[in-house]
Amino acid sequence: MFTAQAATTWLTKFGDAIATNKAYLSDLDTPIGDGDHGNNMARGMTAVQAALATQTDADLTTVFKTVAMALISKVGGASGPLYGTAFLEMAKASKAGTTDLPTLLAAALAGIEKRGGAQAGDKTMLDVWVPVVAAVQADKLDATVIATAVDSTKPMIAKKGRASYLGERAIGHLDPGAVSSGYLFTALLETEAQ
Ligand code: ADP
Ligand code: MG
Ligand code: MG
Repeated sequence: MFTAQAATTWLTKFGDAIATNKAYLSDLDTPIGDGDHGNNMARGMTAVQAALATQTDADLTTVFKTVAMALISKVGGASGPLYGTAFLEMAKASKAGTTDLPTLLAAALAGIEKRGGAQAGDKTMLDVWVPVVAAVQADKLDATVIATAVDSTKPMIAKKGRASYLGERAIGHLDPGAVSSGYLFTALLETEAQ
């Protein structure tokens, strides 16, 4: 059972990782995008952390919904609605009665796929989400799964997002949204280890 408290811990840790790596994420977005991914995510996660800090007794659905709304309203950029949709779908799934983490994450992944129209191999955050959610479902998520998924974006040509305008020039660069998603799932591993 995934609790509201675990979700709050998870997303607070994710916010800390985003704040620490804000400049790095924007640097990754500079050669293959517009250099704002770290700033976008930091703006959103600062709002998430502020909102969560005021909600000490919230249930799981409320936590996910709060996160979704903060990300959708504050991030801007492609990543805001995509991460926002992920948390909105988790809010919906938890409201429908599930507290099972693999089921929640599968709903989030389906939401990102539907919203962005991308698939694994397109050099986006989905190149992390797809293998990580499969690993969670198989109860095999570890740091290596995450690192391998993030690194897999480096040789890819992008099919979606700003990096897709670059064609072969995107080769050799990590996808910034894949890296931030790596932080999201590292924070989840750290939460589960507690
Ligand atoms: P923007 O590109 O609007 O400046 P960000 O820089 O915040 O937005 O986010 C860029 C990231 O969003 C990319 O690195 C990629 O991982 C992700 N992304 C962009 N388009 C899509 C999409 N259609 N599906 C999934 N992820 C996407
Ligand atoms: Mg950008
Ligand atoms: Mg932008």
